[in-house]
Amino acid sequence: MSDYLFELPEIFSIPVLGLSARYPVRRIFCVGRNYAAHAAEMGGEVDREAPWYFTKSAAHAVGSDTVRPYPPGTQNYHHEMELAFAIGTPVFRASPVQAAEAIYAYGCGLDMTRRDRQQDGKDHRRPWSLGKDVEDAAVLAPMTRAGDFGPIRDQRIHLEVNGEIRQDATLAEMVWSCEEVVAHLSQFYHLAPGDVILSGTPAGVGPVQAGDRITGGIDGLEPISLELSAAE
Ligand code: MN
Repeated sequence: MSDYLFELPEIFSIPVLGLSARYPVRRIFCVGRNYAAHAAEMGGEVDREAPWYFTKSAAHAVGSDTVRPYPPGTQNYHHEMELAFAIGTPVFRASPVQAAEAIYAYGCGLDMTRRDRQQDGKDHRRPWSLGKDVEDAAVLAPMTRAGDFGPIRDQRIHLEVNGEIRQDATLAEMVWSCEEVVAHLSQFYHLAPGDVILSGTPAGVGPVQAGDRITGGIDGLEPISLELSAAE
C-alpha cells in the first residue's frame, strides 16, 4: 500500500445484474451528437465522417435512485437520457469484431449538462468542461451483460420529468453504433475494463429544476432515476 497524504474516496462502481461483484469505473467517454434529431435541436447536424467525444470525470459519477443538489453555476441544467455501455476486455485499434467483443454490458445513463455553460464554451470556442464535467452529472444505472441484453435493435429509450414524457426515441436512431464507437475511440485510447461510454442522447433535452424527479428507461435494461434537491 502506498503512503498517501489523504484518504482516497471509494472508486465509483456499477452493479451488474446477476453478479455480486460490481463494475468499477475508471474513465467516462461521451459521444456528441449521435441522434440526428437531437443534433438538429441543438442547431447542428451529425458529423457523418466520424464520431467525436468529450469526457466526464469518473469522480463525478453517481448511481441511480439518488438525490443530488441542483448544481451551482447554472440557470439551465438539462437532462440527457443515454445508452451507456462498459468495456470488458482491453482493445486498441480494434477491428469491428474486436470492438463488438469488447462490449461487456449495457445500462441506462444520464449525461446531465449545464446547457448555459456548454453554450458559453461553443460561443467562445472554449472547452466544455464547465458544461459537461459537472459534479454528480454522470448518472449510471445497474448494467446488464451484453449477452443477456442481446443485439441493439429498435429498443425504446425514454425519459420523463415528474412523470411527463420528454425524450422518446429508439436505439435504431443512433448514427454511430456502439461497435463503431469502440472501433473509432480505440484508435485514440487503449480502452480497457473500467471504461464506460455514454452513447449520445436523442431529441427532447430540456431544463430541470430543484425538486424535479427524472426517470428514464431503455427496453430490456434496468430503469434510471435522479431527484434534484435544492441548490446548496
Ligand atoms: Mn450527451
